[in-house]
Amino acid sequence: MPNSLSRLKFINKNLLGRKRPTIISVVKDEEKDQETIMSIMKEVETDTTIAYNEVLEKCNEQYRSKVNPVLNKDFHQMYIEGWFSHDLPPQMSALDASQPWMLYWLANSMKVLNKNGLTDEIKERIAEKVFAISPQGGPFGGGVGQLPHLASNYAAINALALCDNIGGCWDKLNLKAIYEWLMSLKQVDGCFKTCSGIGETDTRGVYCALSVASMLGIMTPELCEGVEDFLISCQNYEGGFGGCAHEDEAHGGYTFCAIASLSILAAIDRIDTSKLALWCSQRQDNAEKGFCGRSNKLVDGCYSFWIGSTASILEWHGCAECVNKEALKEYILYCCQSSKRPGLQDKPGTNPDFYHTNYVLLGLAIAENAVFITSKEGDNKSKEQVLIEEPSSATHFNSPSCLTAINPIYGLPVEELFNFSTHFRHKKSSCSS
Ligand SMILES: [Zn+2]
Repeated sequence: MPNSLSRLKFINKNLLGRKRPTIISVVKDEEKDQETIMSIMKEVETDTTIAYNEVLEKCNEQYRSKVNPVLNKDFHQMYIEGWFSHDLPPQMSALDASQPWMLYWLANSMKVLNKNGLTDEIKERIAEKVFAISPQGGPFGGGVGQLPHLASNYAAINALALCDNIGGCWDKLNLKAIYEWLMSLKQVDGCFKTCSGIGETDTRGVYCALSVASMLGIMTPELCEGVEDFLISCQNYEGGFGGCAHEDEAHGGYTFCAIASLSILAAIDRIDTSKLALWCSQRQDNAEKGFCGRSNKLVDGCYSFWIGSTASILEWHGCAECVNKEALKEYILYCCQSSKRPGLQDKPGTNPDFYHTNYVLLGLAIAENAVFITSKEGDNKSKEQVLIEEPSSATHFNSPSCLTAINPIYGLPVEELFNFSTHFRHKKSSCSS
């Protein structure tokens, strides 16, 4: 056998996975009953279909066993208060590089559940912890002594935005240092490295950079140069966005980062929004009712935000509603909470955690509090500016769960985002005058 052929055989066997025989079943019309279909399904069973059916059965159990459940707000609030007042267990040392994330997830969950739920003492402790990571006021890493990282910097700024400038903490931020650091991460293709030297480049980094820069009022043409083109090149044939350019697999998290960034840049009209809306719609299955993050993946509560907010942003830009918000609410209320353990979970039978508690609540808040832009003719502002700067001009549905209204681009309560960004806008205008 020539060398090239033996190499090909090796690749087929070892790199392309298990080869399955093709199964062809021809079913006659008169045999199209449930039993025949089930036996065919059994024949084509794989690990993926088994896992899917198990999850579906668990969801159906929830749908059968509960009657019109409501969000158990006091119970979930207890979960957050508990974690704010206790040391983390040793097994959570794996999250040592995610300290600002934990602050943001917990504080934001509390704000979504209860507008006044964060005490001054907790706000002070959050600010203290964030500035212990970077006493010079940013940029921020995941913990003391760690390299600054775009993701932890984003989480630290979001956590501070929830603290109402307690003790003047917003004025301790070093905008110049944060801006120069962001610029140092800028790549020639318009993307950002997540971390100096060793960081990866994808749509997450772009979103973290733009979200922070727009909130702090440090967006410049230099910072934004080439970003739109990079993001546009990440939309793939499916309609969603991959992390990287040119046909990377579409994924809910990367798609949110791309669409939220394009929204901040007021450049949504440069992408194929119909294809993206269709992709969002395909992430929701009539059977489980919640969203999955990629084709052929299992339903997961956190995509209530990543896909739900993407759909909301598309709606702002004139697209028709592309997901079923009523079905999503059912998935969250039936399948993402348990009467045994407080906190929100990704699917029935899994444990609640900080991350899912935040993003499931954000998903529910977005589904219940649709935000409409009612910008005035000729005010010369982008929809994004209007929403951040004038929350009163946005109208909301009443939330049956009485959740705080959320800005889908930033994942923060509308009012807190407004107060934070207004603070820095005023600061900028008083410096330049
Ligand atoms: Zn998840």
